Amino acid sequence: MNKRMLDLGSKRSVIREIFEFGKMRAQEIGAENVFDFSLGNPSVKPPQKVEETLSELLRTEDPTALHGYTSAQGDKAVRQAISDYIIKTHHVECDPDYIYMTCGAAASLVISLSAVCNVGEEVVTFAPYFTEYKVFAESAGAKLVPIASDPENFQIDFSLLEKAIHANTAAVLINSPNNPSGVVYNEKTISRLAALLKEKSDLFGRTIYLITDEPYRELVYGGIKVPYLTAYYKNTIVCYSYSKSLSLPGERIGYIFVNPQAEHAKELYLAICGAGRAHGYVCAPSIFQKMVAKCQGLSSDICVYEKNRNLLLHALRELGFTCVQPDGAFYLFMKSPEADACAFCERAKKFNLLLVPGDDFGCCGYVRIAYCVSEKTIQRALPAFEKLAAEYGLCKN
Ligand code: PLP
Repeated sequence: MNKRMLDLGSKRSVIREIFEFGKMRAQEIGAENVFDFSLGNPSVKPPQKVEETLSELLRTEDPTALHGYTSAQGDKAVRQAISDYIIKTHHVECDPDYIYMTCGAAASLVISLSAVCNVGEEVVTFAPYFTEYKVFAESAGAKLVPIASDPENFQIDFSLLEKAIHANTAAVLINSPNNPSGVVYNEKTISRLAALLKEKSDLFGRTIYLITDEPYRELVYGGIKVPYLTAYYKNTIVCYSYSKSLSLPGERIGYIFVNPQAEHAKELYLAICGAGRAHGYVCAPSIFQKMVAKCQGLSSDICVYEKNRNLLLHALRELGFTCVQPDGAFYLFMKSPEADACAFCERAKKFNLLLVPGDDFGCCGYVRIAYCVSEKTIQRALPAFEKLAAEYGLCKN
């Protein structure tokens, strides 16, 4: 047996652990009395057009073709539709032959990391980061090198990044809007990042790839813009997913887009195809490929998340908690009033508040609150947050 796999399979993620606890607690005291902020499962239903398109596909398409294998990298017409959308929306070069359909962002990341990393190379990322990055990087034989973000705003700390990149760095992995901080990198940050990667690639005489993990691209509030990375740095690989934008995390659909302007772009795309093959990620779910081709540019009703964010952020700050304002995704990353965030989460459990310690996101002393829940849950949870704040003697503003 492979010891590493046994270890991975035996340990449940902290988030899953808390989620399971919530289910057990719901049986004891009723679901309405458990305030589960643990999981990033969209709480808004998919757009109506998703269901309509699926029904139409089932009614009108030849079932053997609809449910059959597509090309390993995905149906050509689907890739064409996505490519057209990227060109129209982001005004960058794109081509269906540089798109690879996948089972969500998780598969996109595993494939992309495997395609660009050789054994022992490093992938730099920014803490706090999505908990699975370490697992994905290690599956590619690489080492994840997390560096702290600026604690004032969770933006990139360029002095740390500068020191973290060296001759053994294969890629820098970013996630904006970010899980768990909700922070979005603005154009100035992206331009600075692109300039640094170019400078370091020249210095070390190697290509340093930028891998951008984008399941939350459309989930931004207040008209904030998320720069499209291929316009800033040529050696970019975009890992996109419809899990959050269309509220379809269970359907496992997304894609990888390799910038056609990347160095040796054709070979890079072939390496993506090879990694997809090696991991068994070929021919993403056929019916969902065909559906997304017809639903480009749609997203679930994100106003619901924005309302939740405003409600919770305002209430928590009023109670004396400290949180950086999230401009995207559906998470709040709150400073724990005691240094040990795990101890704080345990105390929160006393009030049936289920929060996730930041430790697994590479950022101790914080907790993640996933506000992709109903507004009613937030309203009902506020007295519990108030009791929790009182335990720490926090000042009501
Ligand atoms: N990357 C980030 C930052 C995420 O938050 C998630 C899921 O929550 C994923 C990747 C995986 O997404 P998918 O469901 O599309 O595989």
